[in-house]
Amino acid sequence: MNHDVIVLGAGLAGLAAARDLARAGADVLVVEARDRVGGRVEQTALPDGRPVQLGGEVVGRAHTAYTGLVAELGLTLVPSYVAEPGALTRATPESVSDDDPPPWFGPGDETRHATTAAAFAALARTVDPDDPWSHPDATALDRLSVGDWLRSEGATPAVVRLWEIGQLALADGSCERTSLLAALRKHAAVPGPVPYDYEAWEGLRVAEGSATVALRLADALGARVRTGTPVDAVAVRRPGGCSVRLAGGETLTAGAVVSALPAGPFRSVRVTGVSDGRLASLHRQRHALAAKFVAVYDKPFWRAQGRSGLSECEGVVGSTWPQSEGILSALVPPERYGVLLGTPDALRAPELLADIARLYGDEAHRPLATHLRLWGTDPWTQGYVTQWAPGDVMAVGPRHGTHEPPFYVCGSDQWVAGYMEGAVRTGRAAAREVLRHG
Ligand SMILES: Cc1cc2nc3c(=O)[nH]c(=O)nc-3n(C[C@H](O)[C@H](O)[C@H](O)COP(=O)(O)OP(=O)(O)OC[C@H]3O[C@@H](n4cnc5c(N)ncnc54)[C@H](O)[C@@H]3O)c2cc1C
Repeated sequence: MNHDVIVLGAGLAGLAAARDLARAGADVLVVEARDRVGGRVEQTALPDGRPVQLGGEVVGRAHTAYTGLVAELGLTLVPSYVAEPGALTRATPESVSDDDPPPWFGPGDETRHATTAAAFAALARTVDPDDPWSHPDATALDRLSVGDWLRSEGATPAVVRLWEIGQLALADGSCERTSLLAALRKHAAVPGPVPYDYEAWEGLRVAEGSATVALRLADALGARVRTGTPVDAVAVRRPGGCSVRLAGGETLTAGAVVSALPAGPFRSVRVTGVSDGRLASLHRQRHALAAKFVAVYDKPFWRAQGRSGLSECEGVVGSTWPQSEGILSALVPPERYGVLLGTPDALRAPELLADIARLYGDEAHRPLATHLRLWGTDPWTQGYVTQWAPGDVMAVGPRHGTHEPPFYVCGSDQWVAGYMEGAVRTGRAAAREVLRHG
């Protein structure tokens, strides 16, 4: 069966690309390995109908590609957990505290924290998020970890620890394993008053559920989306003639292929007819491995303690936040993922609830339901969001996010730092490029 365009993967990126292509009159087919659409956005429903998000959830005002698409689809953006009253809680082995600065800050730490944060923001202003490779010190900045840079700026151990807890909370890799250039690029893409400003990155959510965005896109595409159809191989021939081999042996043909696959699963697809340099760049990308845990309660009991439900922790749980009334989300960061996998199945939820109980008290042990989603070892994701270890930005290089028509790429990995914004932004951009090349 011949098509104008075959899109690989029905996550937000692939669906957003396919929607624009179909609306422009192209004969487009989306092939998806799983038996559902949405990829890293996924939701289930409680018996009372409330949606529970098991993957991507929140966005910020600067995420204009995503918020624009949400408006086009007639969905509703509402303030996220960031607007919740109450304190952020920090848990370390020696304390659980709502204090800011944390109780383990000593004399001089607060000033040092402010000066390093200001130095980071100033340095980020010198980085072009769309072209970090053009920075005169790009190689040196990429080789340095955020942790090493902090120490070189005179950050005290307590200040480095605070940055590290922030990283554990985001679950995208320790300061010691994150390229400074990648961190600067991320901040330059969505600047805020502090590094990773929660309001700028996470201040909004889709009231109908973030996975509803993917479901709406797929509904409009109808039979143009084939689920349960893993792709094995892609052969690109110029001028425009591509074939896509499916796991069952069937071969489809198209004038162009748009790969919207995550970095990990993409490595298992045999691609020919694309330059070695382009493939090497794609194969060099990696993900942070993380899990998401959701505990559903009848009410947000942490509120009575003056707490917002947002926490940053050094346990197996790296962070919690309320995804909606009484529903608490938690992330297990890459540094703790092995501990979670090594915990027998039946003990995983109780252990994670024990971490939450340490934050908010014994009521945490009595959820109505829990959900644990091991994204880091899911074969069709193999990760969570993009991770940039020292050296990775230069190794992936300026080919990041670029196309070799009739082979196009999109997906959150092709933007600065992953995220739903990256998926929609690169998906729609890839569709524009396909249409431009006819
Ligand atoms: C737990 C978690 C929490 C997150 N929280 C947030 C958040 O709050 N805010 C935010 O902005 N982002 C968040 N993200 C990130 C965000 O969800 C993703 O960056 C985004 O959804 C990725 O979209 P995508 O289309 O690029 O990739 P994906 O959603 O991964 O889609 C890729 C698709 O390709 C399919 N596929 C893989 N291999 C094959 C194959 N061989 N053949 C065919 N199909 C294949 C997959 O099944 C999948 O459907 C989170 C992610 C996770 C996992």
